[in-house]
Amino acid sequence: MKLQFLGCGGGYTPSLNNTNAFFVKGDTFFLLDCGFSTFNQLLQIDDFLKAKNFVILLTHLHGDHCGSLSMTISYSHSILHRIPTLIFPLRTVTELLSLMGIPENQYILRQYLEETDGVSGSPIVVQHTPLMSCFGYLLKDEEKSIFYGGDSSSIPKEILHSLHANSIDEVYQDTTYERGEHASHGTLDYLDSVISPEYKHKVYCMHFDHNFIGEVIHRGYQVVSSYTAIAQIS
Ligand SMILES: [Zn+2]
Ligand SMILES: [Zn+2]
Repeated sequence: MKLQFLGCGGGYTPSLNNTNAFFVKGDTFFLLDCGFSTFNQLLQIDDFLKAKNFVILLTHLHGDHCGSLSMTISYSHSILHRIPTLIFPLRTVTELLSLMGIPENQYILRQYLEETDGVSGSPIVVQHTPLMSCFGYLLKDEEKSIFYGGDSSSIPKEILHSLHANSIDEVYQDTTYERGEHASHGTLDYLDSVISPEYKHKVYCMHFDHNFIGEVIHRGYQVVSSYTAIAQIS
């Protein structure tokens, strides 16, 4: 399980593309979020077009995370003749898709990811905005455990504990340059306050509002690997 990023931008930095990621395992293409810049990119990825199974794990319903979800499901169902499995704990996504003309028979909604090609995934509530429920995912396969935080101002306590107990290999954290008036994203200062120095190299920053990658690396964290993202941010 190796995440590849379609972008590393925040919602207001579309030039960096949306912070959405994918990986391929066995016959399955796994997509983490499906923002407004993602559908166009997926059509250029052979692994997406050819995969037998398609799983979408959704963190929340902001446009940079679900903006092209309806078109992606519709294309998968009608053109690729492949019914995607959509992982999201709430039925609010069904309402959204229904309003966008996507009936429930075009996808399979599940609250968590049962083992699929060796990968399982559990949603964990994260703090992002009081206006909607948001989730990160704890993903496991035979090789490693990953926590993908989606958009969140903090890392859940149980994940921090697991990281410091060496039972999580990688943590992906939304990191903004400055904390705004209403904290909805993490910051480097926040990370410094909760991550022990010897574990910083296991934390990958993503969802950048502008380019401060030098500062991220200087403080000992990683920057997300990328399919297109790094080329565009430098
Ligand atoms: Zn976002
Ligand atoms: Zn968001």
